[in-house]
Parts: sequence; structure tokens; C-alpha cells
Amino acid sequence: MKKQPDRVDPGSLVRPGVRNASAYHVDQFPCEVVLDANESPYPPPAKIRERLWVVMAGTAFNRYPDMETSLLRNAIASKEGVDAAETMPGNGSDEIVQSLVIALGEPGARILTPSPTFSMYRAIAAFHGVDTIEAPLNEDWTLDTETTIRLASDQSPSIVFLASPNNPTGVRYDRADVESIADACGGVVVVDEAYVDFSSEPVGAMFRDRPNVVILKTLSKIGLAALRLGYMMADRRLIEQVNKVRLPFNINSVTQAVVVEALKYWEAFTPLFREITRERERVFKGLESITGVDPFPSEANFILMRISSDPALVFDSLIRKSVRVRWFKGADRVGDCFRVTIGSPAENDRFLTALRQSL
Ligand code: PMP
Repeated sequence: MKKQPDRVDPGSLVRPGVRNASAYHVDQFPCEVVLDANESPYPPPAKIRERLWVVMAGTAFNRYPDMETSLLRNAIASKEGVDAAETMPGNGSDEIVQSLVIALGEPGARILTPSPTFSMYRAIAAFHGVDTIEAPLNEDWTLDTETTIRLASDQSPSIVFLASPNNPTGVRYDRADVESIADACGGVVVVDEAYVDFSSEPVGAMFRDRPNVVILKTLSKIGLAALRLGYMMADRRLIEQVNKVRLPFNINSVTQAVVVEALKYWEAFTPLFREITRERERVFKGLESITGVDPFPSEANFILMRISSDPALVFDSLIRKSVRVRWFKGADRVGDCFRVTIGSPAENDRFLTALRQSL
């Protein structure tokens, strides 16, 4: 039989920036109590769900979605008190991070992030040949404002990503600090408010005074993660440019219709946020009372905690008790930390009991 010529490994044809990266992966051990992804424990209230089914049933499945996402942008704009032209939706807010990097980051350009933070900023930048500069957070996870401002000014990053409240630390950055960074930076400053509904002070339409500021939000943390809907708000001139790299049909028709409907009932969601923040304070106190666990105060729907014994053993023990939290195995500065999402009171109790028994 004729020998096949040696074929080239098609994987080796891929750009080094992608080849050298790892795929986004979190071990998803099957567990009864899932508290590792910052989702809401609560689906939308039953009354709203009924409306959502009706709206979904009206989908024209043979047709492409509305390319301009007009109704959706209007609904987002009226929820946020901005103009529809100041909004752009994404298939999750991580897609908007990608659109921003494509639109603003030339190969060889840089982004700046405090560290530790949401890992996708660095990963997406790397895929596009854009480097990441880090401004390490202080020991209590507050912003090292001076260093961040200096780097934002001296290193000319194309984008500064400020997740506030930050993932995984839960700390919200002061408005005055965000403003100073925006003033020092010649590029765009993204305030990623994915967790803002659990926090005390949104920055609002900061882009009105500072046109280089972008506000990023998502519906993933408030009970609609399955729909994949994030959005940015910014000066309309920036939206116009970034919108060019958005793929024409990135938001499917079901998501567009369901989100428009769900946003009509926004006030029915807000008691659930209050319930989660109340639970967060209860879980925090519970964690403080456990020897060997050092929780950090949080303004998000999760709590980061340092574990003084071997985190691998504690994590395995939690999994055996069917409780899944996020362990930042091998990560810089948080390798000995777990992040627990605030679940329902019963889930939180199971977690606290399992953790006590695992130490
Ligand atoms: N920003 C931050 C800070 C996050 O933690 C996450 C989710 N982990 C996202 C953005 C992405 O959210 P989504 O793509 O679901 O909108």
C-alpha cells in the first residue's frame, strides 16, 4: 500500500498567539449545589416566565434576526436612561470585550488591567496579538490608583478594563479613581459593571462627561445567563465605529424578543438582587466564623475567600459533598482562594456546612 506522505499538523498552522493560549475551561464536576459561575439561583419570576414563553412562541424561526436589534436597543436604552444610539448589544458581554479589542487594538498594542481580574480580557487580547499590562491590586484588593494612573498614561494602552465590582475579588472601585484613570488615559476605559446590581454605586452614564469611557453590562448574573445578552453604553461616535466589527446577526431572535419582554418587568427582578445581597452578608458572617477561612468583603454576588489549609484537599472534599465552588488553582495571588457564588438560602447552608466539615 502506498505510504501516505507526512501531513502537516493543521494545528501548527494556527497563529502563535492562539497556539500558546489555553482554551477557557473550568472543571464542571457534576454537583447538586453549583456555586462556581456567578449565576443567579433564581430564574425569572413565574409570572414573567409565562410571558417569555408566549413571546418565544412568536419567533419567526425561518427568518434571520433583526440585524439592527432596534427593539432591543430601545428597551436597553429606556432601562438605562440613555439613547438607543449610545448602546450596542453583544452575545454576552465577553463578545463585546472581543469587539472592543478588534476595533481598538492593533497588533503590538496593549491593554491595561488591574490584577487579579476577569481572565477573558487578557485571553481575548492575546488572541488578537495585543499584550496585557497589569497593575497589581493592593493587598486588600483595592485599586493601586497611583500605579494604575501612571501606567494608563505612560504605557498608552488602547483599552483599560476596570471590572467594578471586580471578579474575583468583589471590590468596587471609587468613582473618583475611575475618573482619574479615564482622564490620564489616551485610550478607552471600560468600566465592566457585570455585578453592579449587587453593589451600591453604579457609575452611570460617565461617557457623557468623558467620551473615552465605555460602560459594559450583562444580564448573565441576574437570572438570564442562558440568553447570552450583554451590552455596552458609550458615546455614539464610538458605538458607531465598534458596531462595524459586530457580526450582523450576533443576537438571535429568541434572545432579542425575550429580553425586550423581560426588561418590561425589571422591577420584578430587583427584590431578587436584594435577597442575594442579604444572603451575601449572612454567608460572609458564616465564613468569618470558620477557622482557617478568610473571606474578603464583596459588593458582587460572590465572595472570595483565602483557605489556610491545602486548597486541593478542601476542594475535593467539597466536590465529594456535591458542592462546587470556583478554585483558582495555580493562579497568581489567588491560588489558595475559592470564590463562592451566593445561591439560595438552602444552597448557601449546604455550602457552609460542607466547608466546615472539609477543613
Ligand atoms: N465581565 C465580568 C467581570 C465577568 O465576571 C463576566 C462573567 N464571568 C463577564 C464579563 C462575561 O459575562 P457574559 O459574557 O456572560 O455577559
